[in-house]
Amino acid sequence: MRRSPRPGTVATLVLVLALAVGCTQAARGGAPTAVPAAPGAPAAPGTPLVVPNLWDTQAAIDAWIKSGRWEAEVASVTAQAGGWIEERAKAVSKPAIVLDVDETALSNWPALRANRWARIVDGPCDLEHGPCGLREWQKSGKAQAVRPVLALARRARQLGVAVFFVVTRPPELMEATRRNLRDQGYEFTEVIGPPKDAKYPSSSDFKAGARRKLLNEGWNVVAVIGDQETDLAGGFGERFYKLPNPVYRIR
Ligand SMILES: [Mg+2]
Repeated sequence: MRRSPRPGTVATLVLVLALAVGCTQAARGGAPTAVPAAPGAPAAPGTPLVVPNLWDTQAAIDAWIKSGRWEAEVASVTAQAGGWIEERAKAVSKPAIVLDVDETALSNWPALRANRWARIVDGPCDLEHGPCGLREWQKSGKAQAVRPVLALARRARQLGVAVFFVVTRPPELMEATRRNLRDQGYEFTEVIGPPKDAKYPSSSDFKAGARRKLLNEGWNVVAVIGDQETDLAGGFGERFYKLPNPVYRIR
């Protein structure tokens, strides 16, 4: 059974979103709500389950991204990666880097903001009023580059390092994805996506397999950069760099 990188329901996604930023809400001093533990929950009998307030969490995410802190944290990570790429570009043959696309090379924040930060995958995209289906948004090719990542990719190319994108977007979106990346200034050797009708237990199975294939072709993957743990899991690279994503989690 394939574990889809596209979560199933809005409710699930909202819960993931809320849990992912629970600490943020707590750090802001908001009062968490204590509710009785649900039957079967992994808490000792009588232990209250602390959950964040969803409205506050959505507002916190919005403020954090608008403030520029998200991009600043991305830049901090890409600076570390850049140092390593500079060093390794001169030291190995056929150097390459592997980048994820969504919330790494390109930002989907406008679509997610229209959904109050829920990751709604299907349906039409109404950016102004919401909801905005993510696939329709991706098909439009309007996503903006994540600036520190674009700068890193450009520097890598200057150093003679090949840039590969490995992405779990569906095959029918590959052409729009390539066009969007080029329009935003990315130059690359290849955008690698899953074959039609392919099934993978998780996103990381496909992504690690794609990197193994690059290594088998003689590329030295010196750095792998993505916003999800599943972008990085499974090896087949020298160093792995995790970008922040306060909104969703891909398994
Ligand atoms: Mg991503």
